[in-house]
Order: sequence, then structure tokens, then C-alpha cells
Amino acid sequence: MAEPLVDRFQRPLRDLRISVTDRCNFRCTYCMPKEVFGANYAFMERSELLSFEEITRLARIFRGLGVEKVRLTGGEPTLRRDLDILVRMLAEIPGLDLTLTTNGSTLESQAAPLAAAGLKRITVSLDSLDDEVFGKMNDVEFKVARVLAGIEAASAAGLRPVKLNCVVKRSVNLGGVLDLAAHFRGTGHVMRFIEFMDVGNTNGWRMDEVVPSRELIAKIGAAWPIEPVDANYPGEVAERWRFKDGAGEIGFISSVTQAFCRTCNRARLSANGRLFTCLFGVHGTDLRGPARAGVSDAQLAEVVSNAWRARDDRYSELRTAQTAGLPKIEMSFIGG
Ligand code: SAM
Ligand code: SF4
Ligand code: SF4
Repeated sequence: MAEPLVDRFQRPLRDLRISVTDRCNFRCTYCMPKEVFGANYAFMERSELLSFEEITRLARIFRGLGVEKVRLTGGEPTLRRDLDILVRMLAEIPGLDLTLTTNGSTLESQAAPLAAAGLKRITVSLDSLDDEVFGKMNDVEFKVARVLAGIEAASAAGLRPVKLNCVVKRSVNLGGVLDLAAHFRGTGHVMRFIEFMDVGNTNGWRMDEVVPSRELIAKIGAAWPIEPVDANYPGEVAERWRFKDGAGEIGFISSVTQAFCRTCNRARLSANGRLFTCLFGVHGTDLRGPARAGVSDAQLAEVVSNAWRARDDRYSELRTAQTAGLPKIEMSFIGG
């Protein structure tokens, strides 16, 4: 590639999250609260979704513009039928690091086919080990054991180390943070704690529910001494720490208290083919329309490049109680 594609703040486009569905079998309070995403909620029609061929074509175009990593997400990506076929198609793109974020509910049966199709790594969301708190966070009836079995299946299928994501809400699951850290210590998997963000317009975000990473670092560090580790690459969002006794790594994602807009190199593609250059975007740029109208790969690449070059997003640096009320796109629409 001749010139790296950079935005107005010289940030390169390296990372793409592709949402393959806006639907989910969970109703996490912080993402798709059941009061809003109920029986009458208008999810996308099947015809609106990008086909596997359209997703793969766009992923190749993004790769050509410098994207190194693609993460499949949603909604819940494992609800998209034949997901392993999509993974197989994407795995053929040279030089692409392909990964997936899931709530783990169907992973026990899907991990092996996904790994066989070429998935390299996986992130599983898990907010608590306690069935009652787990249910309070995501409104599902089944037990945590099902997600733990999925994590085991992923590990057995070679998707190691598994990364675990826990969104911490002060009034709900803060009390279970040490249990989570203890459970995954020494397993080779990496537990990461995420500050509760004001994504979308419906999750009732309040700063007093956010637990700053520094508070968690102190809490976990008091139980088992930990020390910081250098980032793997520029723009890595999780702050890496390790247990001093050699029991592995742990991570903290401080999207609220330590905004990382300065190094943000991530674009998002919604399930209906809109490109968002920020998690807190509103409109996005339509790629499905031109793709279906028959424009060339070069023309689509131009649309993406123009959107990225024009980008000046830095929402998290500017966040206040007032900005939390501004209209934004829902997390389940563009993926976390
Ligand atoms: N359904 C999949 C899952 O839950 O892993 C993938 C999509 S989900 C939107 C991606 C990630 O975003 C999850 O790890 C989730 O915990 C995180 N997330 C969702 N809402 C969030 C919020 N309000 N603040 C911080 N993280 C959030
Ligand atoms: Fe579904 Fe994931 Fe959102 Fe939870 S965080 S509601 S599992 S999309
Ligand atoms: Fe990137 Fe937008 Fe998040 Fe800042 S607020 S880190 S620009 S996605």
C-alpha cells in the first residue's frame, strides 16, 4: 500500500468490527434493556442484512486500506445462521487477524466448527459467576455454567487464550469482581473489566454506576499483587496487568475515565452495511447502497477512505453528563 490511510488526527485505520446481526438472546441492562428491546422492537429484516458475500467483499476492501484485524460482533453474532461459513470466507483473506465476541450462550456446540473454519481467537462476555447476578445483568434464565462450558469448549478447540469481558456496574456486579479474577487466574485466559459506558440512548447510564479501573486495580491488587505490562501494539484499548506470582494476565478497559480516542484506529460496520467511525456516531456512511448498485471495489474503497479521512471523532474525550444525552447509535447495532 502506498500511503497509510489516516484521519484528521493522523490515526490509521487498522481495526474493523463487523456486526453480523442486531439481534440478541440476552437483554443486558447496559446494552439492550428489555424495557426498550421488547417484543415490539423493530429489528432489521433479513433483506437489510449484508450477505456473507457482501461482508467478505467489504472486508477485502478494508484489508486493502490497511485493516489488520476484523472482529465479528453484534448483537449476538452466533445467532447469525451458518456463521462458520462466513468465518471460512473471511479466513481466506491474507493477513487478516480474525476474531469474534460472543455472550458464550451457544459456544459449547459452536466453538469447534468456528475454530475449524479458521477463527483464531475469541472474546466471551461474562459479567458474573453468580447465577442471580448474571441473570440481573442480562435477563436470561439459564445458568452461568452454560457460558463456562462454552469457554471450555473454545479453549479445547484451540481458541486460546480466551479473553473474558465483564462490564462492571457498581450497584449490580462489583461484588463479584474478585470471584471472576480468582476463577480465571492461572488458567491462561485473560479476564478484562470494562467501565460501563453511555453507549446508545437507552441504557440509563449514570456516572455513579461506573467503577473506575483504578478502583478495580486497587481492589484486585490488594488480593493478589499485580504489575502493569507494556501494550502489545499502539492503540490497544485494554490496559494489561499481570499477577506478580506468575498466575497470568488481567486487563482493564477504561473507556470512561481514561479515554483512548487519541489512538483510536477502529471502524465499525453495522449489519445493514453502514460504516461508523466512532462508537458514538449517529449517521454512518452507507456502503450497502453503492455495493448493491454495482459500484467497483475501487469506488467503494474511495467512499471508505473519504469517510476515514474526514473523521475527527473523540467523543470519549469530550464526554460529560450532558453529552450522554445526545443521540447515538445503539451498541447492539454496531457492536461493542
Ligand atoms: N453479544 C456479544 C457479547 O455480548 O459479547 C457481542 C456484542 S456486545 C455489544 C460487545 C461487547 O460490548 C460486550 O463485551 C459487552 O459487554 C460490551 N458492552 C455492551 N454494552 C456496553 C456498555 N454500555 N458499556 C461497556 N461495554 C459494553
Ligand atoms: Fe446481547 Fe452482547 Fe448486548 Fe448483552 S452485550 S445485550 S449479549 S449484544
Ligand atoms: Fe474511538 Fe469514538 Fe471511542 Fe473515542 S469515543 S475511542 S473516537 S470509538
